[in-house]
Amino acid sequence: MPPKQETNQRKMFIGQAASPGYVIAKTKLIVRQKVAVSQYRISREGTANQIDFFRKGIMQVKREISNLRDITLQSVSKKDSEIFDSHLMILQDPLLIDGVISLIRDERWNAGYAFHLKMQSLIENFENSDGILKERAQDLKDIYNRTLLCLNSSESDFALQEEIEEDGAVLTGFSIGPNMLMNFDKGKVLGLAIDSGSVTSHVSILARSMQIPAVMGLGSLSESIKSNDLLILDGTNGIVIINPDENDINKYKKQIEVFQNQKLELFTMRDLEPITMDGKYIRLNANIERYEEASEITSFGASGVGLYRSEFLYFGRNALPTRKEQAEAYSKVVNQLDPLPVTIRTLDAGGDKMLSLVNAEVESNPFMGWRSIRLCLDRKDIFRTQMKALVEAGIRGNLKIMFPMISCIGELEKAKEIYEECCAELRAEGLSLTKVELGAMIEIPSAVIIIEEIAKRVDFLSIGTNDLIQFTLAVDRSNGKIASLYEPHHPAVLRSIKLVVEAAHKEGIPVSVCGEMAADPLSTLLLVGLGVDELSMSSWCIMECKKIIRSVNYDEARAISTEVLGFSDAGSINSFLKKKYSQKIKSLGISSFITAQDFTTSDRALIKIDDEIQRIGG
Ligand code: PEP
Ligand code: MG
Repeated sequence: MPPKQETNQRKMFIGQAASPGYVIAKTKLIVRQKVAVSQYRISREGTANQIDFFRKGIMQVKREISNLRDITLQSVSKKDSEIFDSHLMILQDPLLIDGVISLIRDERWNAGYAFHLKMQSLIENFENSDGILKERAQDLKDIYNRTLLCLNSSESDFALQEEIEEDGAVLTGFSIGPNMLMNFDKGKVLGLAIDSGSVTSHVSILARSMQIPAVMGLGSLSESIKSNDLLILDGTNGIVIINPDENDINKYKKQIEVFQNQKLELFTMRDLEPITMDGKYIRLNANIERYEEASEITSFGASGVGLYRSEFLYFGRNALPTRKEQAEAYSKVVNQLDPLPVTIRTLDAGGDKMLSLVNAEVESNPFMGWRSIRLCLDRKDIFRTQMKALVEAGIRGNLKIMFPMISCIGELEKAKEIYEECCAELRAEGLSLTKVELGAMIEIPSAVIIIEEIAKRVDFLSIGTNDLIQFTLAVDRSNGKIASLYEPHHPAVLRSIKLVVEAAHKEGIPVSVCGEMAADPLSTLLLVGLGVDELSMSSWCIMECKKIIRSVNYDEARAISTEVLGFSDAGSINSFLKKKYSQKIKSLGISSFITAQDFTTSDRALIKIDDEIQRIGG
């Protein structure tokens, strides 16, 4: 790899505004570390999957290398960039590709190990030769490391290059997972500027709940930065400036001040009711990831917890949490907030929340793989331990339990059966139990289609729009490259929400939205108008949401949402909503403060002149 540019050149990057706020600080780079090769035999049926995984891995590495070649060509020299051409040629060599595929198919090795075997023998052959071939061994080693990281990819492959100093730093790098972010001491991570990911990646959700400004999907930022470079991170507008000039620094110092004041001003909303101008009450709950957050939610004006992502309790440990540990953690939340309701979601591991203790096998499509309720119904030992801990914690009567990723009635019935069995066993242990409400998350299109049957069997519904959008539109929620296709206001999504609301109300049960969409001002109003009873979001979005809800008329919101349901594409829905609501939102001061004019002409060319700039310009 060519040396990174040593010049401290000012450079601006645009990504996705994943968590609001502004930071001016030094950066620390997250790098991929050398990984141990996992080695296991696969079943005959699993070979096609592993071959597919291997091919996709090679394609990914080729993309990374082509990117590096282009950057080197632009910023270093043509000669230095040629090394990457030879790497690409090696990755196309049938001797290598077919060799690995036959090791997977015939010997049934997992993709990573098959690649390791083939490459080790090639490297050895090259090293034992003379002249040019011997020199090429180093190229093979580079490719070996890069590809293996991809085929063995997991969160533990990434680590900080240097320790963060006392005053904290902004983390930059290709990727970071929620597990890694959770492991840092409070106050050490001032911001995230990450090449991959998107607004609904779980690390972004965690960043918002920890109030850490973040920009995701920055492409090749980490190739242009070194640890300890100064940067400005603008999580509100999705902008990162590395090696900023004095002008940038002064401008953002002012922004930080305005932002702090605006946050303080929002606290005047805290104790007001989330009620529309004509008296409709919309319950506003908090989403939490760590039980320690429970103590803070009321200070942001929440009326309870609408989603506790219990899987975060399982991360970063050497063993699964015991029933006692879990009961203590859940009881802390439930008791602390009593009599406010607390909805705890059962373990939703998998996807971008891999639990290394359980999700050991590499899957080629983890979001649609062995995860969530599927995993729990297969690993009943894990599920029953959690269920007993939950029931034990629920004796005060304010606990609700909800099951994620329900795709059919069978899963829901099985989960409820396990709940009943656990209750019976706990009663036999001498515990006197209180009724716990049971609910289903609606985040898969099949659940929407059979929603009437689901609604008959539960006490409440909660729409997980993060996943519902991903699965309805077939757009990976954490893939920054296709983020523009991830459209919460797609008519298919809105009509699905409407169906769920109607089915819930027909059965007389409440329906909540707990995906990120709930906290986006335009979507909030749209959801209120669609008849959603409750919204659940990061606690510090609640005050802003109260402000929005208090500014509108329910009947008017109903009429706007009803009209929108007749539109056939997201573009017209968005323009219509902006026209109807933007004046309202602007006058509330709920918009960003940076204007396009704040930047130089070349910067402005970089910030694409489209709808995005309107958002930036306000
Ligand atoms: C969702 O899918 O909308 C949701 C709330 O759950 P998660 O983001 O944890 O998948
Ligand atoms: Mg989900």
